[in-house]
Amino acid sequence: MIALSQRSQNVTPSSTLAITAKINAMIADGIDVVKFGAGEPDFDTPDYIKAAAIAALDAGLTKYTPVPGTPELREAVADKFKRDNGLDYAPSQVIVSCGAKHTIYNILQAICDPGDEVIFAAPYWVSYPEQVKLAGAIPRVIDTTPAQNFCMTPEQIEAAISPNTKAVLINSPSNPTGTTYDVETLKQIAEIIVKHQVYLISDEIYEALLYDGATHVSPASFNEATKAITFVVNGVSKAYSMTGWRIGYTAGPEDAIQAMSRIQSHSTSNPTSIAQKAAVAALTQPQDAVEEMRQAFEERRDVICQRFDEIDGVSYVKPQGAFYIFPDFSEHYGRKLDGKKIGGSMDITDYLLNSAGVGVVPGDGFGADNHLRLSFATSLTEINRGLDRIKTALQ
Ligand SMILES: *Cc1c(COP(=O)(O)O)cnc(C)c1O
Repeated sequence: MIALSQRSQNVTPSSTLAITAKINAMIADGIDVVKFGAGEPDFDTPDYIKAAAIAALDAGLTKYTPVPGTPELREAVADKFKRDNGLDYAPSQVIVSCGAKHTIYNILQAICDPGDEVIFAAPYWVSYPEQVKLAGAIPRVIDTTPAQNFCMTPEQIEAAISPNTKAVLINSPSNPTGTTYDVETLKQIAEIIVKHQVYLISDEIYEALLYDGATHVSPASFNEATKAITFVVNGVSKAYSMTGWRIGYTAGPEDAIQAMSRIQSHSTSNPTSIAQKAAVAALTQPQDAVEEMRQAFEERRDVICQRFDEIDGVSYVKPQGAFYIFPDFSEHYGRKLDGKKIGGSMDITDYLLNSAGVGVVPGDGFGADNHLRLSFATSLTEINRGLDRIKTALQ
């Protein structure tokens, strides 16, 4: 057999894929499964955004665009950063890529050399460690606890920084925990990062989905010194329910943005021309649809929390943003359920799927085996049906 690259062999397949395949196979067999696995909003893309894409097609905008995005979209992104985050960027400091996942990939490719280290928290988004490794760098994972709201402390970050550190990656609001950093902590972290002159990658993809009246603050807005070393990552997937359109973007230091553009020019080139037009509409039109979806998520968050309060042996941190809850099920580990011993998040995921007809995502893939991730990007009816089943299954 001809050998595959070390690089490809070092990539762990997405842990969520196996379980998703299994859930879908069961549904195809006619089995009733309540799904909490979705990593995307369940709403359709708002009509005015779709209309912009249709108009782009009719206008024949079906050709290559400039690699880092159309001038119109880069301008719209710069305007968005000004309007929502109080950040001044020239369009030349903005690059649009094929989803924020691709944005982070390009950042890591542009800044990391072999042996460099990138610091981020566990529980983490599944792609962070793999993308760091694909850039030849080393993940430096900081374990966080529910008691610290799943946020890295400034002390933990300072202790983890070494001469090899290239960047610190922060995701607030977080997937999979739904937690957010408070501004004071973020300020202290930013100070440390500035002191050590490493990059800050701030994944703000869930910015628009915050609850209890909270407002989002980007660390880049603290001061010029922080802004100079920060990549503010965002995109249209989560705020506008546009996951399939594949538009993400970042603003950051101009030399790095140019490096990312060079890399993108030899891989994907521009993101889809039509999707770019849709993203312009999303960012520049009135934002009422975003607020409507946010309110629906907040109501669902409240219901899923209430329902978990009724279940013994499961604790959770109340999500402050995004559309995930990440409860600790470990009190049930060691039990024998349906004749099988529950050893960890994989086992309890299997048990809930096979015995209760509930599809969740094991915490293992997020670096937190005591936990399960449930997405509440589903209807209140489904949330109630699913939580009824979990309650019964654990009794
Ligand atoms: C969904 C998600 C992204 C990126 O999504 P795209 O669809 O690629 O824009 C980035 N970070 C986190 C934490 C996410 O959950």
